[in-house]
Amino acid sequence: MAANDALDRYHRRRDFARTAEPRGGYTGPPEDESRFVVQIHDARTMHFDFRLEADGVLKSWAVPKGPSTDPHDKRLATPTEDHPLEYRTFEGVIPEGEYGAGTVIVWDEGTFRNLTTDRDGRPVPFTEALDRGHASFRLDGHKLHGGYALTRIRTDRDGGGREAWLLVKQADARASAHGTPDPYRARSARTGHTLRQVAAGATP
Ligand code: MN
Repeated sequence: MAANDALDRYHRRRDFARTAEPRGGYTGPPEDESRFVVQIHDARTMHFDFRLEADGVLKSWAVPKGPSTDPHDKRLATPTEDHPLEYRTFEGVIPEGEYGAGTVIVWDEGTFRNLTTDRDGRPVPFTEALDRGHASFRLDGHKLHGGYALTRIRTDRDGGGREAWLLVKQADARASAHGTPDPYRARSARTGHTLRQVAAGATP
């Protein structure tokens, strides 16, 4: 699928005359270096947005409690629409009345490497892994490091609601019991700003 078709849902939900969020169009560098970003989004309900570059877009999940560094934590991750690659650096305030209204900071960013293998230990391409409902990868960010896995636990065809995934830290040298920091006190990996500082800076 072309990246622009993949962004249909993203575009339909937004009025780019009103929001400073990127419209998108850039389809990315060669596959060897894939990017990830974790944003904190103080919307109607506070959540983290976990985004992985694949197929020229950012595959996205809303993670209410945020990614944990503790392998015992199974963090619910609800898929949201693909976002353009430029969204990786978006930090600011989405205006009142617009889709996703509220403040966004980049909590963590970096690169990731696909580690998904099949039963026989053969590598599985990342987009195929996501289609199949299980992907493992190594994050190299400012805050998040080491192996993580995303696993689909419910499809939207199962009835009773939306597709659901779990985001879980793999037990490796980068695991720890620290969990996730308080989103209200967390600072941007790009600017050092808190949600409150970004919100105050954007007030007309
Ligand atoms: Mn969000």
